[in-house]
Amino acid sequence: MSNRHERRANVAEFRRRVGNYLDTTLVPAGTRLDDHPVFASALVYWESQRQAHSRQCIACMEEFDPDGETVGAFLFATAPSMPGSASVSAICKKCVLPPLGSSNVASAC
Ligand SMILES: [Zn+2]
Repeated sequence: MSNRHERRANVAEFRRRVGNYLDTTLVPAGTRLDDHPVFASALVYWESQRQAHSRQCIACMEEFDPDGETVGAFLFATAPSMPGSASVSAICKKCVLPPLGSSNVASAC
């Protein structure tokens, strides 16, 4: 378990190594990541820490139930300078927009 100082040092180190931008990918929860081992590894880590640390939706900040299946999508971020690692954040099902089918577009306009 890390303390606040360690987390801040880790964030500072991450920012130093990443540089000025990230590539991001939004992936629906439950998507097979067999062809994306960096994302799969990041997700395994995220899941392994779910019991130890509270996890929040990055859109509404609501905490996920540690035992629930409320994640709607995962947002992966990779830095061009560090292609072998990714960060992962989660978005709850309520905050994930439905696919933009013709009926959804018509009702949104
Ligand atoms: Zn949310």
